[in-house]
Amino acid sequence: MASAPASPVRVRFCPSPTGNPHVGLVRTALFNWAFARHHQGTLVFRIEDTDAARDSEESYTQLLDAMRWLGFDWDEGPEVGGPHAPYRQSQRMDIYRDVAQKLLDAGHAYRCYCSQEELDTRREAARAAGRPSGYDGHCRDLSDAEVEEYRAQGREPIVRFRMPDEPITFEDLVRGEITYLPENVPDYGIVRANGAPLYTLVNPVDDALMEITHVLRGEDLLSSTPRQIALYKALTELGIAKETPAFGHLPYVMGEGNKKLSKRDPQSSLNLYRERGFLPEGLLNYLSLLGWSLSADQDIFTMDEMVAAFDVSDVQPNPARFDLKKCEAINADHIRLLDTKEFTERCRPWLKAPVAPWAAEDFDEAKWQAVAPHAQTRLKVLSEITDNVDFLFLPEPVFDEASWAKAMKEGSDALLRTAREKLDTADWTSPESLKEAVLAAGEAHGLKLGKAQAPVRVAVTGRTVGLPLFESLEILGKEKSLARIDAALARLAA
Ligand code: GLU
Ligand code: ZN
Repeated sequence: MASAPASPVRVRFCPSPTGNPHVGLVRTALFNWAFARHHQGTLVFRIEDTDAARDSEESYTQLLDAMRWLGFDWDEGPEVGGPHAPYRQSQRMDIYRDVAQKLLDAGHAYRCYCSQEELDTRREAARAAGRPSGYDGHCRDLSDAEVEEYRAQGREPIVRFRMPDEPITFEDLVRGEITYLPENVPDYGIVRANGAPLYTLVNPVDDALMEITHVLRGEDLLSSTPRQIALYKALTELGIAKETPAFGHLPYVMGEGNKKLSKRDPQSSLNLYRERGFLPEGLLNYLSLLGWSLSADQDIFTMDEMVAAFDVSDVQPNPARFDLKKCEAINADHIRLLDTKEFTERCRPWLKAPVAPWAAEDFDEAKWQAVAPHAQTRLKVLSEITDNVDFLFLPEPVFDEASWAKAMKEGSDALLRTAREKLDTADWTSPESLKEAVLAAGEAHGLKLGKAQAPVRVAVTGRTVGLPLFESLEILGKEKSLARIDAALARLAA
């Protein structure tokens, strides 16, 4: 079969390196990546770092690290280069200066000398009179004499883009047809008085130069779309842009209390999910459901399955709710899907310092290999592994006082003594035999298995909940297990 021609789809992921990466950002990256891969198109990764006051190198490094951890790849951008390099806007300032000048020369933009104070006063007046309160076009057609006068006053102009006096209609890939009336989209600043170009200029200019065909981004940017479409038209006239891209705005993500999830919300910090031991594939699976679904009856899927099925026209415009419980449940399913060997490896960061409380030399690889399969069916996030296996590697169990109080009731000492006797003669290579022993001890005291095993579990592991008890006992071994029961009996006697 002849190979299909390379698809013309070119999308971009273009975050600003401010603060820590957050889940909203990841969802945007994911949808762009899936769209590019689905269409065998090109994903451009661009860094929008023109805001020197807010951007940081640390944040840039974190962004790249996060993208790699999530498993994304990109076809053009940092570390991989490409025909439109450089991909960091801070290294493209000459380009923007040049385009701004061309827009001025062609009359698509003009210098605005209004002071902030004047703008505020006129905005207030317009508001009071019930007129649209955006920029009023004051400097659109200044005479030479007026410009002279402003210059003489030492005013430093910004550059404003001249919006056309007609409605702008576009077909949003997610929301359908949207129209903006001219009175709601006033002329807007594209270059600061100090010469620094603004997002409003550099973002569409780079989309044009990098030949982006589809812009998929958050709904918060919807209101900038009519401006960008107008700017694109001007850029096309100037021979800078080829074609206006299609736009699709991804739904808002709502957090606690049905408020928009903000990037400052602790719940939205990607680092938090990494530290808690979410699998990238689990987190991405969940984030894909914020506005999209594979099918009505399949919540769990791989990224390959998502790529095969992803279509932006299936994205829902209504706000999506971020549900941590569901996110954890989906992650848990992905933990179950791992190959056991893979699971044992992915847990490593939580099995050593500074996370794990045991000494490195007390870690026992054979015990870990033996216990891992039992943990794999139970964890929601990988960080839970530490508490689940600490009884194997600490010299003494860490007694959780609430667990102790709950399990060690009147009569628990008698039960523990009987259990110890029966366990002493049980077959320690068989969890079934250990279970029989505890069951028999329970019977001797009129207790069902659940009640009988609670004190044994707390004596040996320190907690009332954990991995299956009899497998845990077998892995810990007879000598240590019985010594811990003795220690618990001594504690009860004290
Ligand atoms: N740098 C912008 C942001 O992070 C990009 C917005 C866009 O996708 O157009 O919000
Ligand atoms: Zn003005």
